Amino acid sequence: MGALANWVKLQDQYECYFFIADLHALTTDYADTSNIAPNTLEVALDFLAAGLDPQRCTLFVQSHVKQHYELPLLLGMITPLGWLERVPSYKEMQENLANKDLTTYGFLGYPVLMASDILLYQPQFVPVGQDQQAHVELTRELARRFNQFYKLDGGPNDGEVLPEPKVLLTPSPKLPGTDGRKMSKSYGNTIMMTDPEPVVRQKLKTMVTDPARIRRSDPGEPDKCPVGDLHKVFSTAETFAKVYDGCRSAGIGCIECKSWAANALVQILEPIQIRRAGFTEAQVKEILEDGSSRARARAEQTMQEVRAAMRLTPAAPAAQ
Ligand code: SF4
Repeated sequence: MGALANWVKLQDQYECYFFIADLHALTTDYADTSNIAPNTLEVALDFLAAGLDPQRCTLFVQSHVKQHYELPLLLGMITPLGWLERVPSYKEMQENLANKDLTTYGFLGYPVLMASDILLYQPQFVPVGQDQQAHVELTRELARRFNQFYKLDGGPNDGEVLPEPKVLLTPSPKLPGTDGRKMSKSYGNTIMMTDPEPVVRQKLKTMVTDPARIRRSDPGEPDKCPVGDLHKVFSTAETFAKVYDGCRSAGIGCIECKSWAANALVQILEPIQIRRAGFTEAQVKEILEDGSSRARARAEQTMQEVRAAMRLTPAAPAAQ
């Protein structure tokens, strides 16, 4: 939700490309691909329901744009193995997903796929949270390495084809799960964008609070409470002030405080859910195909420059 709220704002400030990374799903879910297509549609619905407007941004599916298969191969030729092995999430995910064999070429190479996803659009900025800055840094290093090896004769920017994108730091608010840990499906602690009101209220009721607040008369600290984190993201300044005062002075109880958080969540989720229900599957597919066709055209421009800079054998005119 945090990322989506930012993207909705960005679509009016920049020419934006947003995609559903179904090829990335293959890096960990290659053995069972049955969920990838249905999840792609679900994610598209989330994007649309949250307010991404296909008239104001390009919304597409990664695997529908074949250039996303081509650039990683070419960039892979110049990627030192050491760069990939030291990406922090490489070891981390192998340990966290111990039930899957992630000693694959595809998993090791996923940062190259990600760099390609970015560089294909020759962007100025990549909107990411702080935790993803390292990935953009690797993308910048790869672009620099490419530009050192290959130049487009007579091209602008000294013939450099892949500009180094800058990070557009977007706030990534902390959204804890109902048990206070990071919200994640695998922990079973999520509040879903599609949860109806009674489910949201029930989940909030069981949410953990500041552990120091055992009795109603004990003062608490919203900064140490997962419910407090939800208030920070979703509540109005007025409610937020009532939470701080009431919690620290033991003037309010946790049940009341949680019901305010539930009110705020329901108020935000309701219009999203109504918008979501307004789309048919056929409409979503049409939107994605239209976006993918625009993305293909833009990515192909880059690829023509990439192929020319690398001096790959030009195709005969009839085959182009
Ligand atoms: S009053 Fe609210 S912020 Fe304070 S501990 Fe209870 S649930 Fe958390």
